[in-house]
Amino acid sequence: MKIIECNLPRNGNFTRRSKTDEVILHHAEASSATVWDINDWHLDNGWTGIGYHYYIRKDGSVYRGRPEWALGAHAVGHNDRSIGICCEGAYMTETMPAAQLASLKALLRDIMGRYGKLTLLRHKDVNSTDCPGKNFPWSEAQNYMNEEKEDDEVIETKNVLVDGKEYACECIEKGGNNFVKLRSLSQAGYSVVFDAARQLPAITAPQCRTFVPDGDEAVQDAIDTLQEKCGLEEKTINYLRRYEYGDELVTKLAKAME
Ligand SMILES: [Zn+2]
Repeated sequence: MKIIECNLPRNGNFTRRSKTDEVILHHAEASSATVWDINDWHLDNGWTGIGYHYYIRKDGSVYRGRPEWALGAHAVGHNDRSIGICCEGAYMTETMPAAQLASLKALLRDIMGRYGKLTLLRHKDVNSTDCPGKNFPWSEAQNYMNEEKEDDEVIETKNVLVDGKEYACECIEKGGNNFVKLRSLSQAGYSVVFDAARQLPAITAPQCRTFVPDGDEAVQDAIDTLQEKCGLEEKTINYLRRYEYGDELVTKLAKAME
């Protein structure tokens, strides 16, 4: 199970959950949102960080929210006994893409495989809410043990390096050639689309950069300079660092400001 670790900013330490006998499913109630967006919203609520333990995007990529052992903040009265999973999307009106449903089922198999069978619930089963929406594929989710079979047999796993981080991609054999499965790439956080203009598949590396929140001394100095000289908020600076630009740009900007 490929879980993307993001080192999300948090405000304080998490408390350990005393027991685990439920898994509770949610939707983001947002058509498009990154795990950082959700984390920011929940920090703005005054919480320690993202309330969910897992976040699944529509492309099927799975992100870690707060640590799995931590007391969640997603279902009143059930946080002390449950793992919370949130799916990107607004499933009062939208329909869940197949890749996202497949990842949800794979994650449920992974969790149940480690804890034994936990009670699977929707948010609305325990609190007064519409979450996860009337179009949420509840019967399919409950049928998580039933994995969609694929024709292509995975023959090996290849590691792909992105931003210095290794992703395991499944490979299939066809006509004597070894191919990395596109779905596997998209689960590793790549965006895989078909460029209609050029008639080529277009693959973009993940924007998720793993970084040490404090950075090294040089980066920390650069952040301080940017805050003082440009009045940039820490959130904005972290955005620059986290997305495609990286620490290098932050350091360069700070140098230019000195
Ligand atoms: Zn919910």
